[in-house]
Amino acid sequence: AKRLGKNRYYFFDEVLHRRIMRKLTLEMKLEKAIVEDQFTLVYQPIVRLASDTPVGVEALVRWDHPTMGDVSPTEFIPVAEETGQIHKIGEWVLRKACLEIKQLHEAGYHDLTVAVNVSPKQLERRFVKTVENVLEETGLPPQYLELEIIESLMQNIDTSKMILQSLHDLGIGIVIDDFGTGYSSLYLLKELPIDKLKIDKHFIKGVEDKTSLAIVKTMVDIGANLHLKVVAEGIEAEWQRNILHRLYCDYGQGYYYSEPVSLKDLKKYIRS
Ligand code: C2E
Ligand code: CA
Ligand code: CA
Ligand code: CA
Repeated sequence: AKRLGKNRYYFFDEVLHRRIMRKLTLEMKLEKAIVEDQFTLVYQPIVRLASDTPVGVEALVRWDHPTMGDVSPTEFIPVAEETGQIHKIGEWVLRKACLEIKQLHEAGYHDLTVAVNVSPKQLERRFVKTVENVLEETGLPPQYLELEIIESLMQNIDTSKMILQSLHDLGIGIVIDDFGTGYSSLYLLKELPIDKLKIDKHFIKGVEDKTSLAIVKTMVDIGANLHLKVVAEGIEAEWQRNILHRLYCDYGQGYYYSEPVSLKDLKKYIRS
């Protein structure tokens, strides 16, 4: 039994060790990722459910490393949040997204909005200046930019509130991402300047069962009562789209409409 115990510790040690090594590797490699141009953005259409027409896109970062290959943002964003590298990466994402959407507007695809994911860690005072600079540099009018914030990790509500208010005052849309998964959703709705709710894909996945349906319906109704627009993410099938449409959810997003695609393929999608 002792030996087993020992082995077990050894096993956990090794897993932990490997995890730490991976983190250090990612941290090191992230340092070069921007200068060596390893990031790209892909875009997923956001569609008005009543007409099935695209009204905007969400920008999602991709990291293709020369030796490690594709690393998922679900793996490297938390590392970047921990190391502070998220500030530089976030700024790169914001600038690139605004630039590319501005190009899209100039190519005749007017009125499309772009939603950029922002880590709660980025919500520091200097971020407002960064956003102002990027909008000025790229010439994208603020009403075409939305910032998606997840409710978890938001540690200092007062600071977050102040920063989000400043951004909102600039005319930028504020979206609560993964709505329904945090502990403080309803409290945040009362405290923060919010324009849109994005219902987390886990609720959409099971929307055929009674409980999930009731939860989704409640979230859509909260949005309507507070005069907020509501987006459902993770729509993979027509039946899901139909249910959400029937609940008067405003917008939808998911593989049913399109996977996240390159800017070039996005143009093709919107044209067709
Ligand atoms: P998220 O913001 O909730 O983004 C939605 C994720 O769901 C994306 O994964 C997207 O590819 C995926 N998705 C889209 N449609 C469907 C669908 O129909 N079914 C399913 N099962 N999934 C779908 P992705 O691109 O791997 O991003 C994962 C997460 O990484 C994002 O979740 C976001 O939290 C984070 N992330 C991605 N890009 C950025 C970024 O530029 N900045 C920050 N801070 N976080 C980012
Ligand atoms: Ca998002
Ligand atoms: Ca989400
Ligand atoms: Ca998520």
